[in-house]
Formats: sequence, C-alpha cells, structure tokens
Amino acid sequence: MGKVYLIGAGPGDPDLLTVKAARLLQRATIVLHDSLVSREVLQLIPREAEIIDAGKRAGQKLLTQDEINQLLISYANQCSGRSLDRSAAGSFHPSATHNEVIRLKGGDPLVFGRAGEEIEALRRANIPFEIVPGITAALGAAAAAGISLTDRRAASQIVITTYSRGSDPANADPFAVTRDVDWAAISSSTTLVLYMPGADYAEVSRRLIEAGQPENLPCVIVSNATTPHQQIRWTTVSGLASEAKLLAPALLIVGRVATHEIQEIAATPWAANRKEPQVKPATIS
Ligand code: SAH
Repeated sequence: MGKVYLIGAGPGDPDLLTVKAARLLQRATIVLHDSLVSREVLQLIPREAEIIDAGKRAGQKLLTQDEINQLLISYANQCSGRSLDRSAAGSFHPSATHNEVIRLKGGDPLVFGRAGEEIEALRRANIPFEIVPGITAALGAAAAAGISLTDRRAASQIVITTYSRGSDPANADPFAVTRDVDWAAISSSTTLVLYMPGADYAEVSRRLIEAGQPENLPCVIVSNATTPHQQIRWTTVSGLASEAKLLAPALLIVGRVATHEIQEIAATPWAANRKEPQVKPATIS
C-alpha cells in the first residue's frame, strides 16, 4: 500500500515551495492536483509521471470530492511497488523505491483546501498519509503587498475567512463555506483576509459596510500573488465598490494594516458602522 502526501503548492511562485514538497514532486509518479496549482510548479513533476487534473472550478467540477477521495484510495492501494523507472521513461516498472501518491493543492492544503474530507477518507481506508504544508494565499498576498498582518500598532488578530455567495450551485464557489462570517469576532484590531471574494466587489463592499466595517477602512485587493500576473490595488472598504475586477485568484486584506499610513490610521478612532446592541436597564419589579 502506498502513502499519500497532501502537499501545499504555495501561492504560485515555485521558489516558495518547501524543500520537502519540491523533493517529493521531483520524484513523483502519480499526482492529483487542483486548478490553483501553477504551471511552474507542475513543471517540476517528471514528464513520465501520471498527472491528473482534479481541478474544481466554479460551475464545472472536473471531479467530485467523492471521486477524488476514491481515486486517492485506489491509487494508494495499487501503487505498492509501483514506481517510475527512470531508465525506462514513459512506463512504470515495479520497484520498491517509490510507492506514493501525491495530492497537490494550491497554497496550504489545510486552508480552504478540503483536505479534511480527504484525510477522513484516507483514515477510514487505513491508508497512511502525510501533510506537507504550503504557503497559504493570505501570506503570499501579504508578502506581495508588503503588509505586516499583525503590525503591533494596528492589529492583534488575523481572521482568515470567506462567505458563501448565494444558493445558485452553478455560481457557488466549490470551496465556499455555507455559513456567514462571524462579524462579532471582527474588531478594530482585526486584520480580515477574505478568500474567494468573487467578482462582485460592490456586493463585498456593501456586506462589509453592513457588517459594521468603517467605509474608510483600508482594503487591498491582491490578485495572482507571487506570480508574474500579480496585481495589487490599494483602496478602502467603500472604494472597493468601484474597483475594476482583477483576475482570479484574488483575495482581500481588510484592516488598518492594509495601508502605507498605518501610524496615521492607528491614531484615528474606529468609526464603526455597527450599531452596538442597546442594553436595556434592568427593571426592578
Ligand atoms: N488552499 C488555498 C486556498 C484555496 S481557496 C490556500 O491555502 O491558499 C481559493 C482562493 O485562494 C482563491 O479564490 C483566492 O481567494 C485565494 N488564492 C489562491 N491563490 C492565490 C493567489 N496566488 N493570489 C491571491 N489569492 C489567491
């Protein structure tokens, strides 16, 4: 029985892979990857390896999660002794050297990566597995924009989140969770990183304002972080509404740290829109 490696491919730049991920990819024989994995990272895999695009794009899933789980299990069961024989490129020959399956995911497998379902399926099937972390998009984007997510002058916590966008399954992002952001957890010292913001920035802006975020709160859109197509837009929560849409994948960093003028903004009071709940004075009967 083979071992399954759940590997994080990072945000795009192949130099941001861990040494372990790069080593495993270079000797890979079977790889199932998702649609976020960059071409440059895929190029590290030997050409002779079997590469399966399990990519799941909004509206057109290539493979269902169940199918992916089943594939991982059946490959792991089959692959005992199955390995790439470099002397015979193009075909697999029995060898005990490599007997592993690579599941490659964009960013980190444990952040909006559906790794939980795969881990559960592997555990149930008694397949050994190992997780190799990757740099999640939030950290790639923060590095690209030069933002310290926990700048001590303005932030004390990071909330990494997303929100579901409508109930139309054709438009629903396959990674999106169905519950809303816990806005009560967001304070003036929170840096909010919003994955999968979708195409409608005006809606995101409206939802942020409705949830109590100040209109002038800084907000940065980072698209294709760490890739040659990287784009960064510095705006505010209200300004976001009129920003031109950047190419996916993109995320938003919202909070006082998302500006070049942290010193200034840290000194200004938090003009939240949120109405604090009215506490009624206790009545004595
Ligand atoms: N497991 C991944 C996240 C998958 S969810 C990780 O840890 O990064 C997919 C979302 O990640 C995208 O919609 C986008 O919001 C974000 N994302 C992934 N790669 C990105 C990149 N290079 N630049 C900006 N956002 C990215």
